Amino acid sequence: MDEQLDLLIDLHVDGERQGPGSDDVTRLAIRLAGLGGGERLSIVDIGCGTGASTLVLANDLDAHITAVDLLPPFLARLEESARRRGLTDRITTLVASMDELGFEDRSLDVIWSEGAIYNIGFEQGVRSWRRFLKPGGVIAVSEITWLTHRRPAELEEHWNEQYSDIAPASAKLAVLEAAGYTPIGYFPLPATCWLDHYYRPMQARFVPFLERHGHSPTANEIVEAEQHEISLYERFSDYVSYGFYIAAEPDRG
Ligand code: SAH
Repeated sequence: MDEQLDLLIDLHVDGERQGPGSDDVTRLAIRLAGLGGGERLSIVDIGCGTGASTLVLANDLDAHITAVDLLPPFLARLEESARRRGLTDRITTLVASMDELGFEDRSLDVIWSEGAIYNIGFEQGVRSWRRFLKPGGVIAVSEITWLTHRRPAELEEHWNEQYSDIAPASAKLAVLEAAGYTPIGYFPLPATCWLDHYYRPMQARFVPFLERHGHSPTANEIVEAEQHEISLYERFSDYVSYGFYIAAEPDRG
């Protein structure tokens, strides 16, 4: 297998999350989506990683969650966590690519996806997944977002190269509207989601990671690239974050 991918999995598999987020933020999005109270919800969590959000959804809601990821080692970790917390009967893991999902049309109450839709692009994701939602169903997706109209050139260059779909919230909401959804909520993730819940725990894994791999050139490159991104974030957190976008599939009766 690809050495770089194996190393990336090894660096990230011990993390509680593989991108910025927090349990509190997942709970805020659950509230904005108006979930809870109804009958057993059918939810998919796309690009779930080791399942931080899946576990909150399963714990807080009367729901069955299909947790989808491309990488089996991440799903194995989620299964362990679900067992420890007594949530296995509410979670089914599924190895699949987010651009080849086989759910029935109009079968889902909720599509959830934190920090993962960039793998196929926000627009392609929200457009191609929409048919899976029941009328009145909800999509809740987090996506990297410009927080301001103007940004420092150095930051723009970095993110435009990493992910050319990066845009302000108004543009992401317009994509949702054009795709046929009704936006019902947006908020930017606080800096703690990046620093306390993602970057600091990852940095604590750098040394053991490098030692496990004998400081190989590829392992060093991976750490340097992550460290570069972290330094940029620390300098420019006023300008960029993830945004959480919540939108409904219109119920046309
Ligand atoms: N939602 C998790 C993980 C975010 S990282 C969290 O917030 O912590 C992005 C995840 O997308 C990774 O777990 C990665 O394995 C997964 N991924 C990447 N490409 C994918 C694809 N084509 N289909 C499904 N999952 C994919």
